[in-house]
Amino acid sequence: MITADFHNHTEFSSDSHTPAEEQVRAAVKAGLKQLCITDHMDRNYPNPSEGTFEFDPVRYFDSLMVLKNRYLSQIELLVGIELGLRSEPEIKSEIRDDYNALVSEYPFDFVIGSSHVVEDCDPYLPEYWEKRSLHGGLFEYFESIAENAEWYSCFDVYGHLDYILRYAPGPVRDYRYEDFRDITDRALRALIHAGKGIELNTAGLRSLSYPHPKKELLLRYRELGGEIITVGSDAHTPDLLCYEFGRAEEYLKECGFRYYTIFRNRRPVMQKL
Ligand SMILES: [Zn+2]
Ligand SMILES: [Zn+2]
Repeated sequence: MITADFHNHTEFSSDSHTPAEEQVRAAVKAGLKQLCITDHMDRNYPNPSEGTFEFDPVRYFDSLMVLKNRYLSQIELLVGIELGLRSEPEIKSEIRDDYNALVSEYPFDFVIGSSHVVEDCDPYLPEYWEKRSLHGGLFEYFESIAENAEWYSCFDVYGHLDYILRYAPGPVRDYRYEDFRDITDRALRALIHAGKGIELNTAGLRSLSYPHPKKELLLRYRELGGEIITVGSDAHTPDLLCYEFGRAEEYLKECGFRYYTIFRNRRPVMQKL
């Protein structure tokens, strides 16, 4: 049974209004043993109207440490972060230095690296797709993940590997995993080689028929030797915490996993499914 949600957001993220304590209470109510809050930090986010996607780490730790102690007897609260990784050559050195400094200065338990922006544009916005074909938009996204997996070392798992499918125009059934296998293989091999993991993100199940990543990609990760996999709902509100974790467990088992992973002090701990 999966009893840890390792990807969710609170009001420290620009796109959530949920007080952290509400997430903790919802996690206790759901019977979770661990909750790792992973608020957004996206340096150089290009669309300020959507929010800055940055927070003050001192205030973040102060608030979460109060809650950690307050709920100590009911749940283990862990402090994580979701870093927005960028592959554009003109900014990637500065962002890498900045994130390396951040994760060495603050005692995070867990760090997700995610792709939210490609070539200065968020694929969530229609303008990303106005300039690209379906294949081109997906390819550039996966290519930036491969480049980030090779360039950054500041994270523990790569977030929602194929979440771009949520925003791709037209029928998503047009997506054929085989058309992107070379580039996704490059990303998976880089992650495994660096000792990094991936996550199973159940937010996909809200609008698609599968979580992220889709089964073919998850099976391939396993086939290439990948073992580290965290599970997260990506909830921005308490009602979506540990969303469809029962299905997530079945999905992992169908793909041959016998364990999922939690992190403490940036170290992976395997948990039996
Ligand atoms: Zn994300
Ligand atoms: Zn997220």
